[in-house]
This record gives sequence, structure tokens and C-alpha cells, in this order.
Amino acid sequence: MGEVRGTHDDAGVRDLVDPFGRTIRDLRISVTDRCNFRCTYCMPAEGMQWLPKSEVLSFEELEHVARLCVQRYGVDGIRLTGGEPTVRAHLPVLVAKLAALTVPADSASPLAGRPIDLALTTNGATLTNCVDELKAAGLGRVNISLDTLDRTKFEAMTRRDELVRVLEGIDAAIAAGFSSVKINAVVERGVNDDEILDLANFGRAKGVEVRFIEFMPLDAEGHWVNDKVVSQDEIVERIAAVHPLESVPARGAAPADRWRYLDGAGTVGVIPSVTKPFCGDCDRVRVTADGQFRTCLFATTEFDLRSVLRSGLPGRELDDAVAEVIERAVGTKWAGHQINQVNFVRPKRTMSQIGG
Ligand code: SAM
Ligand code: SF4
Repeated sequence: MGEVRGTHDDAGVRDLVDPFGRTIRDLRISVTDRCNFRCTYCMPAEGMQWLPKSEVLSFEELEHVARLCVQRYGVDGIRLTGGEPTVRAHLPVLVAKLAALTVPADSASPLAGRPIDLALTTNGATLTNCVDELKAAGLGRVNISLDTLDRTKFEAMTRRDELVRVLEGIDAAIAAGFSSVKINAVVERGVNDDEILDLANFGRAKGVEVRFIEFMPLDAEGHWVNDKVVSQDEIVERIAAVHPLESVPARGAAPADRWRYLDGAGTVGVIPSVTKPFCGDCDRVRVTADGQFRTCLFATTEFDLRSVLRSGLPGRELDDAVAEVIERAVGTKWAGHQINQVNFVRPKRTMSQIGG
């Protein structure tokens, strides 16, 4: 069972601490397993089996889990993801519900007494339609995925001819005035590693941080091999050869290591999930669109919150039952994933089904 630290009375917040002493602060919520893209490193071209609507958590159920995590355990950051979160109807309604959550004043979180840090990860294709509504609903930060600036390659990688709309979406997000807009770029050797510098330059020109992501073995088609991973060291070397960089110290629990351009043109990040896993600082837990609680992207065990949420238990009893599942799950959070080790087991579900 996860250890709970701190005040233990009914009203007080308690840190949720895993067996390795890591305090859980970050909740990733997948709002749908569906997507309008079919990125080759994530989904197959055809044949995804979507969750039936009845199995997907309602906004009320998602809010219930989120509120419990924030108020009982001092979770201070929530990221909405998927699938593609913007294809879920009325997403701003959920955003407004979550944006209203405040980190308890007696929490040890640096955000104690303040609203949670609410962020969204999106492929950007529909942002021009919904970004202002999302901002007005209280969304704080947006990460937009963009792996290539070449239209033909974009279509090959996402299986959709949507580069122009994504670029427009990025501009719309920048114009909307979020506290942060970042670009996520998965790098796959032989596919888009020739564009590392172009993407870095794109971020410099737009004034947004690009975060390169090492390709992880979570693709539906099982094409991942280690040779396709471009390491953090190589990515940074290639950029620094043209734009000198200095390391920005201490990422804390954030997954990206960051560098500052010495010419003052901002920062760039790399998420080295494969070559330098950051599991030792991981403060994340996840809820899938169908209400399964996971303690790692690569976890092979899920904990069923949905059946508890739908058990019909009244108020406080329901909260306690949900909390019991969460604490039991956190008690099993492992030290780290084992990609590239003989005992690594690929999770049964893919990135889009888990929520990246
Ligand atoms: N659809 C949204 C998007 O693409 O931004 C949100 C969900 S997506 C699963 C979240 C992030 O995971 C994206 O930045 C995507 O590029 C990344 N991703 C997907 N499959 C990946 C893989 N096999 N390795 C590394 N990152 C991956
Ligand atoms: Fe969809 Fe995001 Fe997966 Fe691409 S990475 S297929 S946009 S969920």
C-alpha cells in the first residue's frame, strides 16, 4: 500500500508517497482513446478498436477522480491527453471543471493554496477551432506535437495531410496567451532525425520551447527497435554544433532535460525516456479513458477505478473506495521501466490507449 504522509485527519491533505519515496503530484488524464491522426509511432493505419462510449469515463467521473487526487493527496498538476483530447466533445466543459480545483493550502506542494497547473497535450490539428474556448475555460499550458516541417513527411508520419492546420494551430495557441506553449517532437532515426536542427530553429523563431522525445516502444505496430532511437546526447550535439547551448540545472520531476541557447533565443528540451530514464524523479500517475489507474506508462498492471466510480456507493464512502484503489496502486509503483533489458515487457496497450 502507498504510504501517506502528513496530517491525517479527515479534512487534511496527505502526501501520496510510493514505495521508493516519490511523492505523487502529477495526474495525466486520457479523455479519449480516439484520434484524428494515425501516427506511425503510435497507431496502426487501420483496425484500432475504439472503446465503447459506455466504458469511457464521463466528465463528472473524471472530475471526481481529479478532485480527490488534488484535495486528498495534494496533486498539483493535471495534464489532459489521449488519443487526441480535442476530439472529445465539449472538452472546454471538462477544462472548466478542473481549472476550478485549488491545491489545498496545507499541502507541501509549491502550488499550495493556488489553482492547479492544468495542461493539454494535443496534435494541434483542431486548435484553431477550440483554443480560445479552452483558454477561456481556464487551461494554463499547451504542448503541441510536431515532428516534421515537411508536408510530405508529415503525411507519411501522421497518415494525414494536416501540416498546415497544425502550424495554424500553433500560431493560434501562441496568440491565445497561455503561460506556456511547447512543441513535442518524437525523433525516429531514418525518418525525421534530419530535421532536428530545422525543428529547433522553428522553436527559436516562434519563441517556444521544442522538446525532442526519444522514440519509445509503445507503437501499435511493434516496429520499435533500439536502432531507431536517437539519443539525447546526439540530439543535443547536433543542435549545439550550430547554436551553442548551456544546460539548465535541475529538472525536478519534469521529464525534459533543458538547455538554454547562449545567444538568448530561448530554451530547448529533450525527454530521454530510453537512454536516460527519469524514473527516479517520477511523480506521475495516469487514468486511462476507460477509468484504469496506472502508475507508469510501461506498467503491465492497471487498477479499475471505473467499477468503483459506478458502484453506487454514497458520497464519502465512494471517495474512500476510490482512494483505496489509488493508494493500493501507488503502493505497486515500480522503481522504473526496463526498456532495453531482457526482462522488459511491452505493455499490452499502446500510447494512444494509455494516454501519452
Ligand atoms: N494526440 C496528442 C498528441 O499527439 O500530442 C496527445 C496524445 S499522444 C499519445 C502524446 C505524446 O506522445 C505526443 O507528443 C506523441 O508524439 C507522443 N508519442 C506517441 N507515441 C510515441 C512513441 N512511441 N514514443 C515516444 N513518444 C510517443
Ligand atoms: Fe494520435 Fe497523438 Fe497517437 Fe498521433 S501521437 S496517433 S496524434 S494519439
